[in-house]
Amino acid sequence: MEGAREVRAHRGSELHAKGWPQEAALRMLQNNLDPEVAEHPDELVVYGGTGRAARDWRSFDAIVRELESLEADETLLVQSGRPVGVMRTHEWAPRVLIANSNLVGDWATWPEFRRLEAEGLTMYGQMTAGSWIYIGTQGILQGTFETFAAVAQKLGRESLAGTITLTAGLGGMGGAQPLAVTMNDGVAICVEVDRSRIARRIEHRYLDVEAEDVADALARAIEARDAGRALSIGLHANAADVVPALLAMGAPIDVVTDQTSAHDPLAYLPSGVAFDDWAAERERDPAAFTERARASMARHVEAMVGFQRAGAEVFDYGNSIRAEAQLGGFADAFAFPGFVPAYIRPLFCEGKGPFRWAALSGDPEDIRRTDEAILELFPDDAHLHRWIRMAQERVHFQGLPARICWLGAGERHRAGLRFNEMVADGTLSAPIVIGRDHLDSGSVASPYRETEAMRDGSDAIADWPLLNALVNTASGASWVSIHHGGGVGIGRSIHAGQVTVADGSPLAAEKLERVLSNDPAMGVIRHVDAGYDEAERFAQLQGIPIPMRRG
Ligand code: NAD
Repeated sequence: MEGAREVRAHRGSELHAKGWPQEAALRMLQNNLDPEVAEHPDELVVYGGTGRAARDWRSFDAIVRELESLEADETLLVQSGRPVGVMRTHEWAPRVLIANSNLVGDWATWPEFRRLEAEGLTMYGQMTAGSWIYIGTQGILQGTFETFAAVAQKLGRESLAGTITLTAGLGGMGGAQPLAVTMNDGVAICVEVDRSRIARRIEHRYLDVEAEDVADALARAIEARDAGRALSIGLHANAADVVPALLAMGAPIDVVTDQTSAHDPLAYLPSGVAFDDWAAERERDPAAFTERARASMARHVEAMVGFQRAGAEVFDYGNSIRAEAQLGGFADAFAFPGFVPAYIRPLFCEGKGPFRWAALSGDPEDIRRTDEAILELFPDDAHLHRWIRMAQERVHFQGLPARICWLGAGERHRAGLRFNEMVADGTLSAPIVIGRDHLDSGSVASPYRETEAMRDGSDAIADWPLLNALVNTASGASWVSIHHGGGVGIGRSIHAGQVTVADGSPLAAEKLERVLSNDPAMGVIRHVDAGYDEAERFAQLQGIPIPMRRG
């Protein structure tokens, strides 16, 4: 792409902007495009198909310029990756407000979105790409680890030891799968069409080995399973061919899922198209390519359902593959559930979700100190302790050192305040930026994923993420974003993000306390409203007021 160059976030305690909130936004934008972090940085693509950090390189330069000169009572407005205004606000207001990929309902289709994108009028922001809080594959690792732990439990096992998981997609998010399976002591076969993605995951120690072919993958998997050894195996092939082939062979697979970029049919390689021809083919005739991709997804999902009928645990991992397969002609695509109703919703009822932070210093020692602080703050949470210890040992940092752990309402603000104290007293060498994925308990409406099968049928109600963004704006977040189409594709989701900076100041402490209390409380409220008793009990416990339950 024109203007492409290599970007890395500033490090250390010297400011390049007029305050830490502005500096934090600048560093996190840069960090999203660090070649260690982004999947395709030249194209400004961070992860998730074409999830971008800025619309084009000219826009990137303009955002950087504006952030460098932005005052502490000004707010920069970003419209789908392009800076469009600077407004006089006040010091409690966010320094940046972002709206990405939003379209009016009837126009919210991939063809219309692509037309507008080609005109240079919009960009796809995914979730944390366009909102500048992507931290590399670790960002999804704990969620994936939790999900596979829940799968083991559902299978009546203590771990995945002695089982084989079959999945596909080793991209920015999908690349977490092999490590999450081996952290749960299982064996994984991960199918990927792009050999460079397999190499990248091996280099980052997320994936153990690459197999020569299907037979080799299966033989190695069975051998490791029988020896009770955890192992992840990359297989260079097309999932639309391999998953049906393994089913036909009667392969002993226990768990099946998928994280190819199925949400965008142009980002799923159809069977019969060579990897090297992918870009040219989709450009030549996007509509025909979409049809071929959907037909392949139909075969792929039909085989997943076949595995389910043969007794495997099968779930959709949030990429919309069931909906695309249905469009491709496979009527029974929704035979297996999405991962949120199957495993994650009880956590959402307590406002629990992917809380994350990054050290603006660039010093891994700062993250080690915050890890220890988390362990001290929550001494009785054995699961959290196991996760932090394992992450310290096995997670390779990409870009600015960062950490993720799932915390809920009543917990997050305590972590934020502690980090702020540690910045203030010099325990940490520079401020910490605290954010989360949009895939959180109260920040997203996505009927094929986070809000699938809500108890009251409110799956498609999108008032919640909008209220979430407004609440975070009103509570003092450093930057707030509203996106459309992340995770599952255009027309299928609306979601919001927030990032708040712990710079050690008393003002930051006040903001952190409010934002990190109110943001997860939105998740509790949303689930109380949808009729989840566990959320109602939790709201009472935490003293979260629910107006319709009063009086
Ligand atoms: P990505 O674009 O970085 O990676 C997708 C990978 O799939 C690519 O490496 C691509 O080569 C590969 N692929 C495409 N077609 C294939 C085929 N037919 N066979 C085998 N491999 C194929 O995307 P990502 O960031 O890894 O995200 C993957 C999907 O998961 C997306 O749809 C994303 O929206 C969704 N997602 C899920 C979660 C979650 O929590 N489950 C979170 C975020 C995103």
